[in-house]
Amino acid sequence: MSVIPHLINGELVTENGRAVDVFNPSTGQAIHKLPLATRETIQHAIDAAKAAFPAWRNTPPAKRAQVMFRFKQLLEQNEARISQLISEEHGKTLEDAAGELKRGIENVEFACAAPEILKGEYSRNVGPNIDAWSDFQPLGVVAGITPFNFPAMVPLWMYPLAIVCGNCFILKPSERDPSSTLLIAQLLIEAGLPKGVLSVVHGDKTAVDALIEAPEVKALSFVGSTPIAEYIYAEGTKRGKRVQALGGAKNHAVLMPDADLDNAVSALMGAAYGSCGERCMAISVAVCVGDQVADALVAKLVPQIKALKIGAGTSCGLDMGPLVTGQARDKVSGYVDDGVAAGATLVVDGRGLSIPGNEEGFFLGGCLFDNVTPEMRIYKEEIFGPVLCVVRVNSLEEAMKLINDHEYGNGTCIFTRDGEAARLFCDEIEVGMVGVNVPLPVPVAYHSFGGWKRSLFGDLHAYGPDGVRFYTRRKAITQRWPQRASHEASQFAFPSL
Ligand code: NAD
Repeated sequence: MSVIPHLINGELVTENGRAVDVFNPSTGQAIHKLPLATRETIQHAIDAAKAAFPAWRNTPPAKRAQVMFRFKQLLEQNEARISQLISEEHGKTLEDAAGELKRGIENVEFACAAPEILKGEYSRNVGPNIDAWSDFQPLGVVAGITPFNFPAMVPLWMYPLAIVCGNCFILKPSERDPSSTLLIAQLLIEAGLPKGVLSVVHGDKTAVDALIEAPEVKALSFVGSTPIAEYIYAEGTKRGKRVQALGGAKNHAVLMPDADLDNAVSALMGAAYGSCGERCMAISVAVCVGDQVADALVAKLVPQIKALKIGAGTSCGLDMGPLVTGQARDKVSGYVDDGVAAGATLVVDGRGLSIPGNEEGFFLGGCLFDNVTPEMRIYKEEIFGPVLCVVRVNSLEEAMKLINDHEYGNGTCIFTRDGEAARLFCDEIEVGMVGVNVPLPVPVAYHSFGGWKRSLFGDLHAYGPDGVRFYTRRKAITQRWPQRASHEASQFAFPSL
């Protein structure tokens, strides 16, 4: 079994000590050992970042962007290799892995615009012979902690932008599927990034706590589950750090009586069961307005769920792979047991699925519940698996109240042909990302990504314009060059025009 190294100061570093296994979820076999960084290892990465910062902050943004242009090319050239690594350790299909990489590359493309996005703002003659401008300056050493479900895309939400803004970055990826994340970081070094500007350290709570506690780390970006997001936000902000912490989700799709049902069903199939439901924007609740829509939806979903092509993610032409770990599979299965016990109607049961040749893999078939009610655990909690719950309501207002009352507010969508209903939904729904006939409204890289309520702790969303704000601090400079011949008396009143 090979050991996955850290990447610190441009070098691959191995470490003896605590380690965990990384599994191939399709076979259920452990394939790599992953060292868990000690506090000393984290300090090593911080020291390297700190040493690299002065030169990197003074590197012209256009030069920093050139590194990103080369990085983009390398990512595209290595798409097949990266997708294979994602699929081997996460379990998602190769096509899905390539899709997440492409969405990650969009963020590199946005970062290529560094000279434009860091131009600042300028006002001439704000007073006599006085000019003023706002500068966007880097923070210094910043860190990111990322989840297992997008090992390529989510880190790419963070460090390309942080780095072109002039910061040095320490990434602590998920310990479940770190190989693609590491390879991508190596490609950035190959693209010409100076040593120490990006380090990747593997680890668990010990590593994360060391990053939170280090005074040199000025900001933390986190994406993962809500309890950890809340912890990192509380502990980081307590220490005066800037923190954006994106958490869990329960995303509802509203189906109006006038919806184009066939298209809505196709959209829901991908959004609920793609990536085995392990997406923070996955649709896990279908809210049907009226029994007629609900009956028709369930009737159309059932044969499609039963026909899902499920197998090892690395095989071609599949719809769904396994869940990431045996523990994740058992947890999701447990939710299905719980839904049955609570009285929901289990219309399709994916429990006990066995894939010939991959009997030890962490598979679970698609599950569908009807007649789910708001007090059930399967409705309230994030399941993070291939389970779709149908909730029946009588009006759009009732559907919106349901969504607005939920603790999470990451994504949502409405399927309708009624512009008035869609507009009301977009205006009044308390969710950060909204789709109209679009099931996974993940913003493109030149907008920003973030939920509301307990799906995000912090003020600024991830990537795009909010990302630039997060990774820079403003300096407002007011400059006066008095004319030589003039002499002005002291002014004791507050200066004004
Ligand atoms: P997780 O919270 O278990 O882990 C995320 C990161 O936190 C990992 O790097 C992990 O090592 C670290 N971590 C875990 N326990 C920790 C602890 N006690 N102290 C400090 N650090 C700790 O999440 P996950 O299972 O990897 O990912 C799935 C979750 O992420 C889901 O809840 C999903 O909704 C969420 N997610 C959210 C978004 C979003 O944009 N809102 C995007 C992707 C995933």
